[in-house]
Amino acid sequence: MKPIIFLNPVFKQMLWGGNQLRSKFGYGIPGDNTGECWAVSAHPNGDCTVKDGIYEGMTLSRLWEEHPELFGNPKTDRFPLLVKIIDAKDDLSIQVHPDDAYAGVHENGSLGKTECWYILDCPEGASLVAGHNAKTREELADMIHNGRWEELIREVPVKKGDFIQINPGTVHAIKGGMLILETQQSSDITYRVYDYDRLTDGKPRQLHVEQSINVITVPAALAGDSVKAAEHLPGNTMNELISCDYYKVWKLEISGGFSFEQEEPFLITSVIEGEGTLNGRPVKKGDHFILPWGFGKVELEGQMQLIASTAN
Ligand code: ZN
Repeated sequence: MKPIIFLNPVFKQMLWGGNQLRSKFGYGIPGDNTGECWAVSAHPNGDCTVKDGIYEGMTLSRLWEEHPELFGNPKTDRFPLLVKIIDAKDDLSIQVHPDDAYAGVHENGSLGKTECWYILDCPEGASLVAGHNAKTREELADMIHNGRWEELIREVPVKKGDFIQINPGTVHAIKGGMLILETQQSSDITYRVYDYDRLTDGKPRQLHVEQSINVITVPAALAGDSVKAAEHLPGNTMNELISCDYYKVWKLEISGGFSFEQEEPFLITSVIEGEGTLNGRPVKKGDHFILPWGFGKVELEGQMQLIASTAN
């Protein structure tokens, strides 16, 4: 029987962070400006360790290197995904990510970044930034160089339980008050387009104007194509939220009991609401774990909601 690999999260203090990772998830966060919980990550900027069992204390990156059999003997050189919870007390800067081709050439072989968000909580009438209104690259460059932000930026209304895919080249920003579970390629490459003219220690944060103009998709995809409601989905089944080049993401709403065969190379699972058991072991909101290759039958019981993912 292969083990369930529970992980210890890595927390990141951010200027825009808050304390909901403690108040809503019960984590022992390092301070009242904790913006991110890297829940499942083997990235060098935050490499999670195994919580218990025979691999206790080992980093996920080392587990990936030394025990490929746990991950379906992958061909990629690094753990490909990163799952985090983001607590935005203030607005995040407006940004865009490159794709693999651009990042590989311009960012020292890094991966590009495709990401998606499940909105765990947000205020009434919330919106976030997804896309822009420029029709041509010339117009985009003019709007950015001349600070025509109101014309450029497209805000999209969202509510709790919405799911949004953010492809590389998409202008995007999380706004204050949002609590989000993000599933992404394991990359940290971000180009900042605009930071609302805010000052940090008296200075504006660095913008990446030319890189942004190079990688932003023009015209932007329609907003309606990337946002879908996923708060209430059929119970006791795997509801697929997205399948793209890099990952597949599902939501599970367990009520009573549900079992399935784990047939993916590996299955990342986050409990986002409620509690129950997994093959008899107690699990609760805030737990994150990996079900390895060949795990076999997964038996879930209780009242809980989970987000699961694997690499494509
Ligand atoms: Zn992003």
